[in-house]
Amino acid sequence: MILRQAPWGAPIAVADAHVHFFSHRFFETLAAQKPGLTFDSLHWQMPPERPEDLANIWAHELDRQGVARAALIASVPGDEASVIQAAAAFPDRFFAYAMVNPQNWQPSGISAACLFPAMHRYSIQSDSALRVFDWARENHKVVFVHCGVLSVGVRKKLGLDSLYDMRFSNPIDVHAIAMRYPEVPIVVPHFGAGYFREVLMLADLCPNVYLDTSSSNQWMKYQESHLDLRQVFRRALDTVGPKRLLFGSDSSYFPRGWHHQIFDQQAEALYELGLSASDAQSIFAENLLRILPR
Ligand SMILES: [Zn+2]
Repeated sequence: MILRQAPWGAPIAVADAHVHFFSHRFFETLAAQKPGLTFDSLHWQMPPERPEDLANIWAHELDRQGVARAALIASVPGDEASVIQAAAAFPDRFFAYAMVNPQNWQPSGISAACLFPAMHRYSIQSDSALRVFDWARENHKVVFVHCGVLSVGVRKKLGLDSLYDMRFSNPIDVHAIAMRYPEVPIVVPHFGAGYFREVLMLADLCPNVYLDTSSSNQWMKYQESHLDLRQVFRRALDTVGPKRLLFGSDSSYFPRGWHHQIFDQQAEALYELGLSASDAQSIFAENLLRILPR
């Protein structure tokens, strides 16, 4: 197993629960949304056409960073084939996650379906969303539900419309579904992205709810009293415990590659809280590997 240096002394295994796979198809899909759109202004390295080749670039980057495994998220509906091919090319390395719009989705070979109810403007309690949970229950898959504030950096930079509807973003709406599908692991990213209290309530009541720690967690600015990363982890650990937190970086593009600062900050915060090396190993890898189908 590939290991990464961490504050606990001995290096640890890292399995990143949240990496965006910005495939060729992803950019093609964005380009089709606005006539004349080009990507030069991003100053990003454009991906090779074949998903296997982009997967290979990611594999090298993760080798360099000491990251053993990663969930790769196809980040527009209709791009599932890219992550399925990436995971097939490196089965010991990648898990295929994909953003799906359940209102027009056919089940495929992904490990996790990522729902963005506010983006696609539907209720998580609608029949179409329930179909995704049925699929997950029958096939031992994971469902990821984005809640809270949603701002897609690449769309903003490119001036693409983001006609979302935040009414569909409250983690409280996930409660009834999580209770109805207790076998299905449900991952809420970014600690609920602004709904910290609500996501803790949800996770406290539903043992199948997991929180991903990914991104710079800018939502902390919405808290009525100041919170820093250490306090966020303290409260999450007090309520949810170390077995239901999943480390994620929210990495996405090259040349930046794997966003190691996110790991460094989170590892430092957890170390300062006095988290044990074995609990750190749970959060940084084991919890994700336990809930994903192998
Ligand atoms: Zn993300």
